[in-house]
Amino acid sequence: MPVFDNSEYDNHEQVLFCHDRESGLFAIIAIHDTTLGPAAGGCRMWPYASVEEALLDALRLSRAMTYKNALADLPLGGGKAVIIGDPFKEKNDKLLASFAGFVQRLGGQYYTAEDIGIGIKDVELLARECDYAFGLATTGDPSPFTSLGCFHGMRAAVKHKLGRDSLHGLTVSVQGVGNVGRHLCKNLREAGAKLIITDVNPEAAAHVSENVGAKVVAPEEIYSQDVDIFSPCARGGILNDDTIPQLKASIVAGAANNQLAEVRHGKMLCDRGILYAPDYVINAGGMLNASGDIFGQYDANQVMKRLSGLYDATLRIFETAQQEGRPTSEVADDLARQIIAAKRASKKK
Ligand code: NAD
Repeated sequence: MPVFDNSEYDNHEQVLFCHDRESGLFAIIAIHDTTLGPAAGGCRMWPYASVEEALLDALRLSRAMTYKNALADLPLGGGKAVIIGDPFKEKNDKLLASFAGFVQRLGGQYYTAEDIGIGIKDVELLARECDYAFGLATTGDPSPFTSLGCFHGMRAAVKHKLGRDSLHGLTVSVQGVGNVGRHLCKNLREAGAKLIITDVNPEAAAHVSENVGAKVVAPEEIYSQDVDIFSPCARGGILNDDTIPQLKASIVAGAANNQLAEVRHGKMLCDRGILYAPDYVINAGGMLNASGDIFGQYDANQVMKRLSGLYDATLRIFETAQQEGRPTSEVADDLARQIIAAKRASKKK
């Protein structure tokens, strides 16, 4: 399979194709860059339609982890793993142990954690089978930390775009009210925002609506809602040629990874006057919390301090983008690449 000419291949250091006949494991571990430290990023289990689709996801997600860790000022590189399969039907202890064996053989070049389809219980199993799993019971569920970081990023967007210090009275549409989305809804309601939500799982949407108060709309209706902020908290690739023209929001700020279908969609948002909070900048909260496992030290106060620091970090990206007349997504990518280049240069000295 051609990897080097894949559209998402970006000088990734290593791409490991993992297969174990006995357990039925088919997985890909993509290590994008280890200049700043060992690659760290979750493991996703998803019923990909093809190996090509899985590879594309692994390449994109691992690069986003490099950028996320760099901008979060963590001494970690970027990596991500994908297991091909339906987590509800095909996930079992043998399969996960087999995956852990591949991670172990990388000898600490890649640390794995939870992601879609892989929960904390699964990570605990991985940690029993290998030395390189993080995001365990010690640091807890990352989702409330991700949502809080996202909320701080959203506050920065409101400050920059609307000149307001508070979200009180603003309307926010949230796409996907799973682990992160439902916590974010709570943060937003506490801040006095009104909510319009959707989820492909109607029970999840009904639950959030009953608990915090929100109008529920059908999944395909979420883009065209008359709101101040659109917050994607479900899948990637949802900012594209079809959806961007439908948006009435002046801000897009959410937790989902890889929201832009293609790099050019960052410019498309910018051209429409929509302020985009780069996903990997504002969704770093879970990583800031869980990485305590890797470093063997966890300071809850320090984590909260760093989460609120995402406000300033996001604001700086908006200001630079405005001064330079460039899309925020490009500015964030450049900033991350500059941090890595500086570290690489200092290592050579
Ligand atoms: P989750 O699976 O718990 O929640 C996602 C929700 O989105 C589910 O309720 C699902 O039914 C819904 N959904 C899926 N497709 C949808 C669609 N087309 N329209 C509407 N709803 C849809 O996942 P999560 O942990 O909440 O993560 C959400 C996103 O944030 C993912 O992209 C994830 O990669 C990213 N993220 C999560 C964390 C974290 O700490 N959990 C950290 C960083 C990034």
